[in-house]
Order: sequence, then C-alpha cells, then structure tokens
Amino acid sequence: MGEQKVLVTGGAGYVGSHACKALKQAGFIPVTFDNLVTGWQDAVKFGPFERGDLLNKADVDRAFKEHAPVAVMHFAALSQVGESMQEPGLYWQNNVMGSLNLIQAAVEHDCMDFVFSSTCATYGDQDGVVLDEDSAQYPINAYGASKRAVENILTDFQAAYGLNHVIFRYFNIAGADPEAEVGEFHQPETHLIPLILDAVDGKRDALTIFGTDYDTPDGTCIRDYVHVCDLVDAHVLGMNWLKDGKGSRIFNLGTGHGFSVREVVDQTRHVTNRPVPINNGDRRPGDCTKLVSGSLRAVSELGWSADKSNMKQMITDAWRWHQSGTYTK
Ligand code: UDP
Repeated sequence: MGEQKVLVTGGAGYVGSHACKALKQAGFIPVTFDNLVTGWQDAVKFGPFERGDLLNKADVDRAFKEHAPVAVMHFAALSQVGESMQEPGLYWQNNVMGSLNLIQAAVEHDCMDFVFSSTCATYGDQDGVVLDEDSAQYPINAYGASKRAVENILTDFQAAYGLNHVIFRYFNIAGADPEAEVGEFHQPETHLIPLILDAVDGKRDALTIFGTDYDTPDGTCIRDYVHVCDLVDAHVLGMNWLKDGKGSRIFNLGTGHGFSVREVVDQTRHVTNRPVPINNGDRRPGDCTKLVSGSLRAVSELGWSADKSNMKQMITDAWRWHQSGTYTK
C-alpha cells in the first residue's frame, strides 16, 4: 500500500500549512484544498494542491474522487473575532455552509475519520468557570457561534452515519515552524504576536492594546497560547486516535497558563531586545476577558505534549519567521 492521503482544507493557511508539514513527517501525503482567499499558494510545500471552494460542493466532490483520502483535517475557515461581529453572515456562510458541504462529501465518499478545528471562543466569557470539554458553550461572537454550529453538525452526522470525528477546541495559536519553511502571514494581520512584531520592526507605528480596563490583574485580556507545531502534532495524534477506532472525542488544546496582552508585549521586548511601541485603545467588540484551558485531556488521553508552548519559544520562532519568511500572491 502506498502512502495514504489526508485531505487538508485550509492547507495554504497558517495552521493548515504546519499540519501539512507534520503529516508529511508522519508518512502521509497531505492534499491541500484551499480557495486562497486568506491562504497562500507559497505555503503549499508538502503535497499536492487542489484549488477549490468549500461553498462549491462540486469542487469538494472532485477532491475526494481524485485523491481518495483516508481522513479529513478541516482547518479552512474565517477566524477573526472582530470581523465576525461586523459581518456575521460571512461567518455563517463560509464556516457553517462550507463545512456542511465538506462533511456531507466525506460521508458520501466514505471517508469517515474527520478532524475539526474548533475554538475556545465556543465557550464565551465565563468568569471563574474552569473551561474543560464538558463546560457549557455560550459563544459571544459570530466566529465562536459558527464553530459551535459545525460541532453540532458533526454530532448529528456521527449519530446518523457513523462519521467519527475529533474536535479540537483551540486556545490561541502562536509561533511558527522553527525551520521557517512556513509561518503566520495574514493580510491584513489582526493577531496579537505578529502585530507586536510589526511594531517592533517599524512595519507599523505601534501596537494598540484593545482594552486596558478588563477585570484582570493588569487590565488587559488573558489568553492561553499554544505553539502551532504542538497544535498540529495533536492533530496527527487525533487522526491516529480515530484510525485506532477510539471513537469521537473533544479535546481542548491549551496549556492551562494564561498570559495578558501586556505580558506578551513584555516577553516580546525581552526576546527581540527591542522596544515595543504601544497605544492603549478601546475594547474590541466580541473579546472575552479570559480564555484559559482548564483541561489536560489531550495530554492524558492522546499522549499530547505541549513542550514547545512556552512564550519565549513561541515568540522566538515567530520572530525568526517574521524576519525571514513571506508569501506573495
Ligand atoms: N489584541 C490587542 N491588539 C491587537 C490585536 C489583539 O490588544 O492589535 C488582543 C485581543 O484583544 C485579544 C488578544 O490580543 O485579547 C489576542 O487577540 P488575537 O486577535 O491574536 O486572537 P483571538 O483571541 O481574538 O483569537
């Protein structure tokens, strides 16, 4: 039997491209399916590329027919909290309808192992509640709501057709491939660490901190950051979990340690040894005060280890990529 193929939607994006590298290293052929709206063809380095749109079911069917994947890793999505508040329809259409086409096609083509990128934004702003996989979900932005809807679709397709799935609820993702073959590159950039690095090297005047009056020790939001390489390692473990017949499961991917926006700024100053110009700005609509994983289920059940997910390493790897890597359309 030759190498097995895995269909990676969003394989030209930040997390998806790192997943393709991890899959290749694990002996699979990652087939990237991407519409290149937010992804980059330059990031497709580890296997074949199928340009297509999840909203066009014929594109999706073509990819399954052509490649006969043994599993799906579904990363493709719009993922900006702020944008989701301004244009919720975009999120419901792309994230929910696109995912529904993909899930339907997976069942029709008998590809019954499905790994899905969900988010801690499905939990919402639950002050004082330990966020584990059994916590209630009260998303406060359309991004989180759209991801929760896809989780619900997967549950129903499991019941009706036996679609086995692993749902990963990501906390915040940071860092880059230490070899800088792929990295984080959004246009426009909206994520904290790349924006801080832009401010460090003068690509923008300053980082604006979104809200300094939150009920946290320094007044800024707290997030739990995971190294993208650790994150994608969990996906390979999750896929193997399904291949071993262990059944559908939800896993948080976080470290259990929170960093405030100011703490991330301070650490970036240390790692880069340069000043970080900042402005104190207003809160961003849709932001939760604090999102920190309260679960280590991925560690105990999947055997996951988040050993690269310390802030210094994440910023070091992001900085290396920032200085060397770029994609062009
Ligand atoms: N943030 C900020 N300034 C920025 C971008 C982000 O203060 O220019 C804050 C944001 O409010 C949040 C944290 O940094 O508390 C992480 O935001 P990001 O957009 O990176 O990820 P999210 O948590 O929205 O998925």
